[in-house]
This record gives sequence, C-alpha cells and structure tokens, in this order.
Amino acid sequence: EPETPSDETIAREATLEDVETVAARLGLGPDDIERYGSHKAKLRQDVVDAARERGRRGSLVLVTGITPTPKGEGKTVTSVGLAQGLSRLGEDVAVAVREPSLGPVFGIKGGAAGGGYSQVLPMEDINLHFTGDIHALTAAHNLVSAMLDAHIHHGNELDIDVDHVSWRRSLDVNDRALRETVVGLGGSANGPPREDGFMITAASELMAVLCLATDLPDLRRRVGRIVVAADRDGAPVTVDDIGATGAVSALLRDALRPNLVQTIEGVPAFVHGGPFANIAHGTNTLVADEVGLAHADYLVTEAGFGSDLGAEKFLDIVSRQGASPEAVVVVATVRGLKRHGLDMWPADFDALAVPDPEAVRDGLPNLFHHVDVLRDFGLPVVVAINRFPGDTDAEVDAILDACSNREIPATISTAHADGGAGAEELATLVREQVESGRAALRPMYELDDSLRQKISAVATRVYGANDVTFSKQAEKDLERLTENGFDSLPVCLSKTPYSLSDDASKTGVPTDWTLHVRELYPAAGAGFIVALTGDVLTMPGLPARPAALDIDVDDDGEIHGLF
Ligand code: ADP
Ligand code: MG
Repeated sequence: EPETPSDETIAREATLEDVETVAARLGLGPDDIERYGSHKAKLRQDVVDAARERGRRGSLVLVTGITPTPKGEGKTVTSVGLAQGLSRLGEDVAVAVREPSLGPVFGIKGGAAGGGYSQVLPMEDINLHFTGDIHALTAAHNLVSAMLDAHIHHGNELDIDVDHVSWRRSLDVNDRALRETVVGLGGSANGPPREDGFMITAASELMAVLCLATDLPDLRRRVGRIVVAADRDGAPVTVDDIGATGAVSALLRDALRPNLVQTIEGVPAFVHGGPFANIAHGTNTLVADEVGLAHADYLVTEAGFGSDLGAEKFLDIVSRQGASPEAVVVVATVRGLKRHGLDMWPADFDALAVPDPEAVRDGLPNLFHHVDVLRDFGLPVVVAINRFPGDTDAEVDAILDACSNREIPATISTAHADGGAGAEELATLVREQVESGRAALRPMYELDDSLRQKISAVATRVYGANDVTFSKQAEKDLERLTENGFDSLPVCLSKTPYSLSDDASKTGVPTDWTLHVRELYPAAGAGFIVALTGDVLTMPGLPARPAALDIDVDDDGEIHGLF
C-alpha cells in the first residue's frame, strides 16, 4: 500500500484558506475575529460572551481512548478526522483540541496537531509559539511566584510559612533538573532561601483556570481564589492575598479568547488551552466549546488519555459547567490493545509491530472497561479503531468482531491516511448515536458527597480498584480541606495514564488492587481538589533521544522535524 507522507510534507503541500473564510463557516464575520496573519485568529471577546447568551445549538462529541502507549493512540487524529467526516456528511462542524505544550513537542510524543490527512494547520505555528497563550500563562504563573517571594522578602505581612509555599515556578520545557530547586541563595538581599521547584506550564493551575473560566470576570475570580501558600497558622494564602489577581488577569486577557485555525480539509478548528490530563483536567477551554456549540451543529472535542483520566474529568468537572456530550468515541489501536494482551511495560514498539491477533484479543478487556465506564456515565459510545499502516485484517477484525458480539457500535477509521473520507463511517455511527438522544449524563458522584466518597467512586467505579487508602498526610489534608470549606468541590485525581491502576506496569484491567492517595490539595481557582496517587511528575524530563534532536530550521526559514 502507498505510504502516507510525513506530517510535515502533508502540511507543507496543503493549501490553506484565509482564516476569514474559515470563520465564515461558523457564521462569523471579519469583525468577529482578530487576525494573527492569514491563517490564525483569535475570536473577539464579545463573540465569546455572545455565545454564552446565544446558548447551545450543536451537539457535543467527546473523543477519548483506551489506556494508551506513550506515543498516543490517535485521539487528536481521530477527533480531526471525525470532524472532517461529519463535514463530508454535510454537517456544520467544528473541532476543539488542546494547544500543544513544548514539553512533548521536543520530548517523546511530538506535537499535538493531529497527523497525516487529519491535522490542524499551520502545524509549525500551532506546535511552537502559536498565538502566545502558553507564554502568557508562563509569565502569569511566574509573576505570582515573584510577587509571593517579594512579599516574604519585604516583611512578610501575611506571615507566610516559607516551608509551606505550594506555588512552584513554571516553564514550558521538559527539564527534570528543575524539579527540585532552592531559591533565595546568595544572602538576605535575595530573599530567604527556601526549597522550590518547577512544573511544566500545562500543569499550572492557571492553565486549568483558563480552561474552565466562562468569561473575564470569572477568570479574575478564579485567579484570586488560587491558594499559593499557608500562613504560620496553617490558613490558606491566596493570589488575592498577595495582590496579584489584577496583573495576572491582565496578562491572561487575550489568552482567554479562543484561537481559530483550520483542519487540512478546511473545517474550523479551535486550538485553545492545554492542561495535562494526568495532573489537571486535560481538556481544551470551556469557552472554545461554548463558541463551537453556539455556532455549529457538531463540536468534536478531545479529552486527554483514557476514559479514566480526561473523560472522567470532563464528565465530572467540566460537564457540571454545562458542556455535556451527546456521544463519546473511544479510540482503540491494534498496538495499544496488543500491549495489554502481551502484558508489556514499558512499551516496545518494535515488538508491538509484529502481527498477533491473539494478543489483540487478549487486550480487549481494557477497551471494554473504558466502554463500560462511559456507559455507566449514561452516554452512548462508539469505538473507533484507528488503523495504522502495519495493522493486519485479522487484528482489526478481532476488535470489530468482539465489539459486534457485545453490540458496541464500532468501525475502522483511516482518518490518518485518508482524511475525512476515512472517517465517514465513523461520522455516520456517531451521528446515529447523537440522534438517538440517549445521552443522559450521570456523574460518578454528587458534589455534596464527602471528598472520601468522591474519590472512592472514581477509584472503584472508573479505575476498578477494590478500595482506597489514604496516607497519614492525605488524612490530614482531608481534615484541613473540610475545615477550610473545600469539601463541596469535585475531585481531580492524578494518576498514571498508562494503567487503569496507579501502577504503570499493570496492563489490561488490573484487579484486586487498592488505590493509594498520597496527598490532597485545593485547586480552588480551577475549582477542584487534586488528589495525588502514585508518583506523578508535574515536570517531565527529556528522554535519551528527544524529538528536539531532529528539529531544525533551514536557511529559508522552513521548519523541519516536527511531528
Ligand atoms: P493522542 O491524541 O491520542 O495522543 P495523536 O492523535 O496525537 O494521539 O497521535 C499520536 C501520534 O501517532 C501522532 O504523531 C500521529 O500522527 C500518529 N498517528 C496517529 N494515528 C495514526 C495512524 N493511523 N497511522 C499512522 N500514524 C498515526
Ligand atoms: Mg491528543
């Protein structure tokens, strides 16, 4: 079979339409957008605000996946492909995905602009600086750090306990050497020395705030509520307390406005916000979803990692703010299921390339677990088999047959190789599910359940754990959170994406295990409680052979090596 050219070649050969033409497909005029050149724009704030008032016209389709390999199973590709497929069926559609973080772009996973003939363009811009949102977040995040340390230095009127500063610094680069640092060295003129560290910008609470804020006043309220430290009585110190709310909101004003670009087939695409799904809630901004739903019949959006992470958080956190899906797509791959069937960790991609239908069959329980979880949420599910070039018919048929036996609508998507044409059947199945009107979202817990009950519901009903245990620290945290009135918030569990359990080496559907919660803290601005399980890194590191080694720019200014 003919090989699909590289993402970069496809992107370079694509003819882009002017962003005004793309905006027109959403019924937006030239005055509704602010152009960033010919192919990128930000929506004007009044368009965003009007979308809220206009209300919802379209249906929301959430794309999630099986428990993935570190290379990803193609949720972005499938989201873009599905949107293009729906467009080919004659629907008015938009797609909303997250903005890539430079961490993965230069690390292992590469960019996040889709791939093959299901990309969002211009991919170099989107993967690198784009419209500057992530830089704005980094600046805003570090402004809080600087104001906090300056406050302590200039007399510490708030009596901040320097051993309990929870606000770390941030950077949008994978840099493991900065995970644990000491600041304030060099004498008292440089402030009191204290332990500090960096997180990647996508893990900043400000990113989560941007993605959940409904408008500028709401953004400001959320920023102000963020807890950055504790005082010497243990009481929370917030961004409002240190006086940074206004300046931070000013820095984030433009970042809050959705970015509009296009897919390779000219479908309007919002690329906006990019929280990680293992440490934050992992979906693009609510405002982009709202604009898309107000201006199109379908909005396809992606939630990070499997149904246990991005989708659970979307349904238990984001949907409570109004964006509730009519249908969910679970992306499965032959290689991903094979990893589960072979009980393989870490993933050996050469071994996974060897045809093995039996291993695929053995891996299917992982797929069915994700399907069952989403049905438990009350939502109709479609399985999309994201077909890779090396997949054999026997392997793909093993998935299709098993889904058919269980009456799960399933089909192959070749959106990577064929663009929207390769996702038309998927689009047809999704449209059927949406039109069935069967979606009746039931969150996993109620907000007035105790924090313990909320965590337990996610652990047992979504992850498949038998039980939950809390460390001594976590017990203390629970008490303090309740004392401080944070117990009515939803929970955001941070967990490895590579297993349904809290141990990445456990493949398939781990049974007879207990979830251990190490620590809890309030993300009061985002509006959830983070519960840390296992060892979760908020600052990734570069691998021995990072993607950065292959990225270059030629003398004509053409960028190479992005994928
Ligand atoms: P996810 O969003 O699930 O993390 P992506 O859609 O970003 O995954 O895909 C991960 C990587 O795999 C990307 O580089 C993408 O181009 C590539 N990819 C995805 N689907 C296919 C496919 N069917 N054939 C070849 N490459 C693919
Ligand atoms: Mg993705």
